[in-house]
Formats: sequence, C-alpha cells, structure tokens
Amino acid sequence: MTIDNFNFSGKKAIVRVDFNVPLDENGHITDDTRIRGALPTLKKILADGGALIVMSHMGKPKGKVNPKLSLSQIKDAVATALGTEVKFAPDCAKAADAAAALKPGEVLLLENLRFYPEEEGKPVGIDKEDPAYDAAKKEMKERQKEFAKTLASYADVYVNDAFGTAHRRHASTAVIADFFDADHKMLGYLMEKEVNAVDNILSNIRRPFTAIMGGSKVSTKIGIIENLMEKVDNLILCGGMTYTFAKAQGGKVGKSICEDDKLDLALDIIAKAKAKGVNLVLATDCVAADDFKNDANTQICSVKDIPEGWEGLDIGPDTMKLFAEAIKGAKTILWNGPAGVFEFDNFAKGSRAVADAIVEATANGAFSLVGGGDSVACVNKFGLADKVSYVSTGGGALLEAIEGKVLPGIAAIRGDK
Ligand code: AMP
Repeated sequence: MTIDNFNFSGKKAIVRVDFNVPLDENGHITDDTRIRGALPTLKKILADGGALIVMSHMGKPKGKVNPKLSLSQIKDAVATALGTEVKFAPDCAKAADAAAALKPGEVLLLENLRFYPEEEGKPVGIDKEDPAYDAAKKEMKERQKEFAKTLASYADVYVNDAFGTAHRRHASTAVIADFFDADHKMLGYLMEKEVNAVDNILSNIRRPFTAIMGGSKVSTKIGIIENLMEKVDNLILCGGMTYTFAKAQGGKVGKSICEDDKLDLALDIIAKAKAKGVNLVLATDCVAADDFKNDANTQICSVKDIPEGWEGLDIGPDTMKLFAEAIKGAKTILWNGPAGVFEFDNFAKGSRAVADAIVEATANGAFSLVGGGDSVACVNKFGLADKVSYVSTGGGALLEAIEGKVLPGIAAIRGDK
C-alpha cells in the first residue's frame, strides 16, 4: 500500500516519526528540521479525516524514564507545526484509552518509546559475554513483540516515516508491521523520498559518478568505501582519513588524526581502486595547524610532509582544485563527511569548496545526494541545502542503504525481509 492510495477517513493511524530533535538546556528545540520533514505525512492523514497517533524516540535513555528526554517538551512545537491541538500520552505502553478516545482530526503524541527497553529489544544490565545473555536476549525479543503488539493495538493502520531509524529492527520501526496486513501498512512521504533518492543513486547512475567520503576515520567508513568502489568512477577520500593514507604511503603526518592499525587497509583500498579502474582522488596538500582550535597558527604543506607537532585540519588550495575537477564533471554525486574540521570557520574552506563544486555540478544537471550527519550540517552551515538535489535525513540508515543492505524498517513494510 502507498500513502497516496490510502484514504485515512475515519481511521486511526499510528505513525513512527523521527522527532529526535536537538534541544538546548532549557528544553527548547534548536533545529526543527525533523518535525518539518514529517509534516506532509501527518497533514495528509489529518486532511483525509483520520486520527493520528504519533510516536518517536528521543536520545538514548537506555530503557529508563528520563525527563530530560521527554517528548512532552516538543508537544507544543508539534501542535504549532500541525496547526492543531496535540494530546500527550505520558506512558507510550499505556495509551490504549487515550487512543480509543481519539476523534477524526485529533492528534495524540506518545511519550519517548525508548523509555522502554523493549523498543530497542536489547537485554539491559547483562554483558554479552555472560552465559545467560542468549536466554536474556530471547526473552527480550518476546517482550519486544508484546510491546509492538500493544502499540499496534492503538490503530487501524501503521505508517513508517522515520528514515533515520530504518536501519534498526526496533519495535516501532519494524516489529510492529507484523501486526498489520499489507493493505494497512505503508511508508510515509519522507521515507518514500529517501528511498527514491537512494534508488536514484544506485539504479539510475548517470556517469561519471563521483563520491566524496570525508569525516574522521577510515574504520567507520570502510564498508561503504568498498561498496562504492564497485559503482563509482571517481572516489574522493578526504577529512581525517587523508592522514592514514598519507602515512601508509610513507608520509610524515605529524600529530594528524591517523589510524595506525589501518595502514594496510589504506594500501589495500589504493590497490583495489587501481585494479577496478576507479579514479581514487586523495588530498595532496593540507592546512596544518599547531593546535586543534580555530585560531591556531597554520601553514600549507604536503599531506606527506607535515612538521612534528602540527596536524592537518583541512585540505589545501591544490587539493581544492583537484577535488573540484572530479566533482564538476560528474552527473551523479554522493557526499558524506566533511573535508576538514568544518566546525572551526578557519578550517571550513575545504568543505565549502566541495559544497560549491557540488552546487555547480547540480546546476549543470547532475543529481547530488548529501547525507550523513556532518555533511548535512555542512551544507546547512553554508546555506546551500536547497542547491543540491537531495539532502538526506538519514545518517547510518543512508549509508547502509547505499551499501546495498536491506533496511529492516523498509523490508517490514514491503514484505521483502
Ligand atoms: P564522521 O562522524 O566520521 O563523519 O566525522 C566527522 C568529523 O570529522 C567532523 O566533526 C570533522 O570535524 C572531523 N574531521 C574532518 N577532518 C578532520 C581532520 N583533518 N582532523 C580531525 N578531524 C577531522
């Protein structure tokens, strides 16, 4: 079933959204992107004459009630965004009466799902090495099913619009779907958009395809790097990874971030790229700093000749040109992870140059997908989010989808699990 083909009139819909919004110390929302992202789905259901039960997690309360992570703090913001009153259920597993009392057009927001360990379905307070772990895990999986069944009992139809958690098999993101038949479960609009964007990258590749992978470490990106090697024409690796590659090739990297146990892996990637005919583009020069702070002293140097006590915090001018060339000619672009420590304005120029090149390629007809926490923060910082084709709300979920993994949240609805 698709959300466009379903008439919610007179129905109660339980919708999993990602309202895990950042809050300041007073509980005020500092970025409401995720709330805005879910509005098309929520508004469609209300406009049809349906009643809404909205559920989400916030933060990592690890199965315990934590008032600092209560969704009651965002109730008024959700009401304002929807333009209608929002009721609140202070215990997500005891909301049957509140759900039953809902009339068409009314909205009920459930308390943080992760106040219950059943949401994530991982046993708490027991070590993986403990001989009793397997039994505890099995028991928790049973409790997870019961928890999902309770949530399902509130509604006639289930909608999943939380792409950010689609790579998790949690009660509200996947297990709950088993309690609805195929005509009464569907992806929301945000989820559909995300899935289409990934499809565009994976099945509709217009060449050349350039991927830019940045961020801090090779180790966390290796899965996606190896996978992309099968697909891309140009693979730009930047950010902190640069120095592991530079050292692996015999360079001196000073005190730059470097994974000494990944030097062989770096050489492996270089060899694989060569064997597959992938143009691997690595930084040649960098902006080195004498301290990890915005107003540190800096010098431009080769990534393979960084003085003792200095560390590379951004790409240098030659590298900016090199990267821009590989980006500007591309017809498909994926960007994940900054080129430098973009949080410091003085080391954001490299990431800005990457973003500018992507914007230019997009204006010339390329499809560009930007995703994964920090690169999204980057395009937002530069005010360029509306000048790329698609900015994904998913971090881990996006990378797993691009790696070609089936996401449990999507499989649970489409039935291809
Ligand atoms: P990740 O979460 O792995 O995508 O990494 C993102 C983080 O990598 C950002 O906070 C950047 O500041 C950081 N980063 C990027 N380049 C460097 C670098 N050269 N040295 C240290 N950290 C970096």
